[in-house]
Amino acid sequence: VDGVRGEVRMRLESAEDEYLRERFRDFDDLAARLLRALLRYDDGDAPTELPADAVLVALDAGLAALIGDHGSAYGAVVLGEGSVNSHVAVLARGLDMPMIVQSPAAVRAAENGDRIIVDADRGRVFLRPTTEVLAGYRDKAKLREEALSGYRSLRRKLAVSRDGMRIRVMVNANLAADAALADGLGADGIGLYRTEFQFLASRTLPRRGQLAETYAGVLDGAGGNPVHFRTLDLGSDKPLPGLRREAEANPALGHRALRIGFERPWLLKMQLQALLRAANGRELRVMFPLVADAAEFYMARRMLEGESARLGSSAVAPSAILVGAMLETPSLAFAPDSFLRDVDFLSVGGNDLLQFFFAADRGNQRVADRYEPMHAAYLRFLHGIATRCREHGVPLSFCGDAAADPVVAVALAALGFDGLSLRPTAVGPVKRAIRSVDLKAVAHALQKALASDDDMGPRARMEVVLGDVPAGEAPAVGLPDEPQLRHEAAGEAGSF
Ligand code: PEP
Ligand code: MG
Repeated sequence: VDGVRGEVRMRLESAEDEYLRERFRDFDDLAARLLRALLRYDDGDAPTELPADAVLVALDAGLAALIGDHGSAYGAVVLGEGSVNSHVAVLARGLDMPMIVQSPAAVRAAENGDRIIVDADRGRVFLRPTTEVLAGYRDKAKLREEALSGYRSLRRKLAVSRDGMRIRVMVNANLAADAALADGLGADGIGLYRTEFQFLASRTLPRRGQLAETYAGVLDGAGGNPVHFRTLDLGSDKPLPGLRREAEANPALGHRALRIGFERPWLLKMQLQALLRAANGRELRVMFPLVADAAEFYMARRMLEGESARLGSSAVAPSAILVGAMLETPSLAFAPDSFLRDVDFLSVGGNDLLQFFFAADRGNQRVADRYEPMHAAYLRFLHGIATRCREHGVPLSFCGDAAADPVVAVALAALGFDGLSLRPTAVGPVKRAIRSVDLKAVAHALQKALASDDDMGPRARMEVVLGDVPAGEAPAVGLPDEPQLRHEAAGEAGSF
């Protein structure tokens, strides 16, 4: 298996076509799984091999590396390639797993069994650290733990600004275990439950009964708070192994999300049936991803209504069904008013929306500097969406990763978003930030910054207005610090 992997690597790595080169990653992932199975490092065997807080160091890693097998046991991840906005990075943040991307020298120098410190906050990797560095980081970790426990006091407090604006602060959950965190953190429910991760983590296609069980568990864990189940968002950088797909030059713009659901209605219908049954007399909220045109929303909603009608008035049927859409393409911002009257809620998927707005691939680190959520043009665009939603009384939330930054979170609230959905560790810092500001005053300053041509930019303006808004928690995914690579002689302590 390893021999074939080597041959394919030689052929595909030198391919001109970037898409083909990328496909090697999938193949490599598969070969690695096969090797693990052949070497009997499978299931029960491997955990005994992994020390607590093991660090994964690899050229690149797919989602399966973090959610399959024993991925969530990793203490941190260091990648030679990768991007801070990719789905792997989103997952790592959700798991509060520090990750450094674009650090090939660290990957080359690391050996199995090395001691390593990963500081995603400052973008540093310390390989074979000295005792002084180790002691310094032990203290730093303790301080961070203390800072996070400080947020526990906010658990039962609502995110209400000084001028009385109430913002729903919810959690983005990727796995059922994250969903259980929401109530304990004092969040207002789950703003985005990424249902596809269960499919990606599973070796075989999950059955309807298994799905229903997971979804019912998520609703139980949410303790009566709303849960927004996003239907399968597969494709692009979340391909489902085993689902045949044709090569596409631009998979992020291709056959993905709801588009796959329409092509394979049995898959979407099975999921909808599981959701309807899981509700078991409770309210069900379903959110369709990547709705680019109102017609797609109506088509998906009809499928849900069809499955709901088949269930009839059975005792397991939901008490109420709310149907919403994710606004992830600029086109939906210009949907007709009738759409806004028909949709029960909207959630802006800022991770995708931003990449389409600036034509800057979220998975490509070379264009990451164009991927700026506080850019004036983008904020003006978001403000337009919020204004339309307010006029039509549509609840509007934002579930992109950017909202975990308290400055962005406050800006969104000031622009008119009434809900924010964040990775679990950001709930405390964002609640504190909202509670410490006068949103009307922030909105006023922000509007001035957006209306003028001054080159200070909205982020700098916000920082002036906000003054001492508390910083967020450390970013869970970072890039190597500058100067990028300071590797001392091989075998000695090195920092990257
Ligand atoms: C988004 O695009 O902002 C989003 C929440 O969905 P995902 O990151 O899973 O694409
Ligand atoms: Mg998205």
